[in-house]
Amino acid sequence: MTTENIALRQNLERVRERIERATQRAARKADEITLVAVSKTFPAEAILAAHGLGLRHFGENRVQEFEVKQPKLAVLDAVWHFIGHLQRNKARRAVHLFQRIDAVDSLPLARALDLEAAAREKRLPALIEVRISDEPSKSGIGEGDLGTLAEAFAAMTHVKLRGLMGVPPYFEQAERVRPYFARLREMRDGVSARLGVALPVLSMGMSHDFEVAIEEGATEIRVGSALFGERTRGAG
Ligand SMILES: *Cc1c(COP(=O)(O)O)cnc(C)c1O
Repeated sequence: MTTENIALRQNLERVRERIERATQRAARKADEITLVAVSKTFPAEAILAAHGLGLRHFGENRVQEFEVKQPKLAVLDAVWHFIGHLQRNKARRAVHLFQRIDAVDSLPLARALDLEAAAREKRLPALIEVRISDEPSKSGIGEGDLGTLAEAFAAMTHVKLRGLMGVPPYFEQAERVRPYFARLREMRDGVSARLGVALPVLSMGMSHDFEVAIEEGATEIRVGSALFGERTRGAG
């Protein structure tokens, strides 16, 4: 086993312990939490190693980057999540490569994905990314437009809305993100009640704050650096 693989194994153990402790504090069960390993910027070999350790969900944020890695990964039984901002003109390639689009942030994008998924006769679960940070540079749809976008999914035949995703501002003290996660959960509950549809997925929490997210109801956490190590490029 390579040094990288030993580090990955130890990192995964640590992440699993953190998940276990957080779910205990929240009186939840660890198997309610899907660990999405964010493999962006890391090579296909790192993903193969992670798969070998039992991980089955992976997150990537650039279509082009994943297209390069994908041929080495095509044999794996895994769910590939697109977690970045997706340009509409890349919808076709994204539908081809990914099983879940986690960051739908506009109606035109949702419609483009639905058309492409229909052309491939592929059922495509998706999440809406809501902008829960006050930083204007951050992606996601504004809270005021969430209801309209969520409603529009009802008319789509192949893209299926499963829940919400959000990225809060970064705080040194992870505890300070709690209100942002709580708000995202409220939004999910609100949209679900208003539309009368189940929205079981709440994707929130990253390497440094996923315990707080779990305590606030996350069903999926997106963890990159705590598993694969620090990224040297493309942190966004
Ligand atoms: C990069 C990224 C992550 C993982 O971040 P880490 O801090 O490395 O865990 C999670 N979610 C999104 C949307 C990302 O772009």
